[in-house]
Amino acid sequence: MIVTSRIDEVRQETADARAAGRSVGFVPTMGALHEGHLSLVRRARRDDDLCVVSIFVNPTQFGPAEDLDAYPRPLDEDIRACEAEGVDLVFAPDAEEMYPRSPATTIGVEGIAEPMEGQHRPGHLEGVCLAVAKLLGIVGPCRAYFGEKDAQQLRVVRRMAEDLNIPAEIVGCATVRDPDGLALSSRNAYLSAPERERALSLPRALRAIREAVEAGEPDARKLRDLGRAELERGAPDAVDYLEVVEPETMESVDEVRGEALVCGAIRVGGARLIDNISVRGRDDS
Ligand code: AMP
Repeated sequence: MIVTSRIDEVRQETADARAAGRSVGFVPTMGALHEGHLSLVRRARRDDDLCVVSIFVNPTQFGPAEDLDAYPRPLDEDIRACEAEGVDLVFAPDAEEMYPRSPATTIGVEGIAEPMEGQHRPGHLEGVCLAVAKLLGIVGPCRAYFGEKDAQQLRVVRRMAEDLNIPAEIVGCATVRDPDGLALSSRNAYLSAPERERALSLPRALRAIREAVEAGEPDARKLRDLGRAELERGAPDAVDYLEVVEPETMESVDEVRGEALVCGAIRVGGARLIDNISVRGRDDS
C-alpha cells in the first residue's frame, strides 16, 4: 500500500492504473475511520481495480465556531485499517498541499444545498464541494463512493459532478449503524455514555416516522410532530431540524406519497449528529 501526502504521486498512480486498463475507486474521508467508512472501501475494492482512500480534515467545510481543531486525527490507526482492508493508495495531504493559498473559487449548488445543512451550517456544503472537486480533479476519472448517512451531501456532490462534467460516477452506499441504531460517525467519539443514550433519540425519531408512514400517515406535519416528540423524550441539547423531504431535490414535502427521506440533526454535548432514513408512502391519493 502506498501512503502519500503528495498530489503529484496520486495523479501518477491513478493515471498509471487507468493506462493499464484498471478502474479507479475513490473513497474521500476525513479519517477517524469506522465501519461506515470501511463499508465504502469494501465496495470500492469489490467494484474497482485500484482502491484510493483520502484522509483529509478539510478546513473549508468547518464554520468558525465548529470542531476543526478537536476533530479526531488518528492517522496511524487509519493507515493500519486501510492496509487491513487491502487499500492500494492512501492520500493524506496536509492543508498546505491542498490549499497552498487561500482559494478564490467557491462552488455553490443552488436548491439542493440550501435547506437543512445549508441553513444550519452556512458555507459547509460549499466547503465540501470545493474539497471534493479538488480531490476528484487530483484522482481523475473514477467511481467515487459516498455514504447515504450524509444524504444531502451525496446529492449535492452528485449534482456538482454532473453540472461540472467531472468524470466521476458518484455512488451512494447504505448507512452503517451500531447495534443500538446510532449511525456510525467519527463524532460519536465525543459522546459520553449518558450523552449517547440521549443521541439515540435521533434514530428512534426516524424509525417512529417510518412506522407511522407504513401505518398509512401521509401528513408530513403530523409526521414531524410525532418525530419531534420522540426527539424531545431524549432531551437533546438542540434540534437543528427534522424534515421530510423529496429524496432528490431535498425540498420539504407536505405529504408522503411514494419515496421520501426523513432527515434530522441534533446536538448532544459537544457533538452534532445527523441521520436520515428513507420512507415509502402509499402512492394512492
Ligand atoms: P467523513 O469522514 O465523515 O467525511 O465521511 C466520509 C464518507 O463516509 C462520507 O461519504 C460519509 O457519508 C461516509 N460515512 C460516514 N459515516 C457513515 C456511515 N455510518 N455509514 C455509511 N457511510 C458513512
